[in-house]
Amino acid sequence: MRLVIFALALLSSLTPQKPEWCRQLPRPAYRHLERIATKDSWFEVYRIRPGVFAIYEPHQAEEIISYLILGAKRAVLFDTGMGISNIKAVAEGLTSLPIAVVNSHTHNDHVGDNWRFEDVYGMDTDFTRTNAKGSKADAQAEIAPGEICGDLPPGFNAADYATRPFHISHWIHDRDKIDLGERVLEVISVPGHTPDAIALLDEKNGLLFTGDTFYPGPIWLFRPETDLDAYLASVKKLALLSPRLQLLLPAHNEPVAEPDNLPRVVEAMEEVRNGKVRGIPKDGNQEYVFSGFSFLLAK
Ligand SMILES: [Zn+2]
Repeated sequence: MRLVIFALALLSSLTPQKPEWCRQLPRPAYRHLERIATKDSWFEVYRIRPGVFAIYEPHQAEEIISYLILGAKRAVLFDTGMGISNIKAVAEGLTSLPIAVVNSHTHNDHVGDNWRFEDVYGMDTDFTRTNAKGSKADAQAEIAPGEICGDLPPGFNAADYATRPFHISHWIHDRDKIDLGERVLEVISVPGHTPDAIALLDEKNGLLFTGDTFYPGPIWLFRPETDLDAYLASVKKLALLSPRLQLLLPAHNEPVAEPDNLPRVVEAMEEVRNGKVRGIPKDGNQEYVFSGFSFLLAK
């Protein structure tokens, strides 16, 4: 009997426990999306609209989503993800057009593979310039126990994992337009989550790529670089666009959301700021829960 217990204990110590977040996957929204085959099992690729692909990383707790957006002449990769596997190879498997990188902001989980690209657009802010130098601490925290679900890619070197420095080849500003040929993407500066946060508007197709300004989940607003006044002003700016939009494409968790979330986020943030809602302690921060999303604020 004792031997059996010992054997069971040994077995459970060898079998990695699935973290809680990962037991909830796949999220129901993905059932209705068109999945596209890709060779690299670190990623899942979905066609959201003609010429718009979501490149999702479901094996890491951020559940980051980068987007490949095609025009007639060139393509934009909106974020490059964790840098744990090779997103450039995945994107090049989806299009033969030249690919430029634009980032929703320069937190490590959105710029991980920027270093692989020559053509990188960056917001003209000091925050962007600092992050382009790379860093290791934030990247290492992403692979701490409980952050990974399933296997890391073969050949991944955990000890060396870092956000590699990258070169910005074009500086961009609010309302700049990026013409891909038969598709124009407009840069909407939405500081708040970070000083360099942007959304990308594809006006003709009614699409808004919201980055981390909106996604269905706890929206992280607790880091020192977050500015809540700026965030509220930015979501108000996006909410004005919502009557003209068909779809929001967020940077985490799920690649499709209804545009009427934007005015709801404005209302929710105003309630939080006016002290009308109570936060619940969560991982050292305060979570304010609403239907379909929540805010994670510093205590
Ligand atoms: Zn972020």
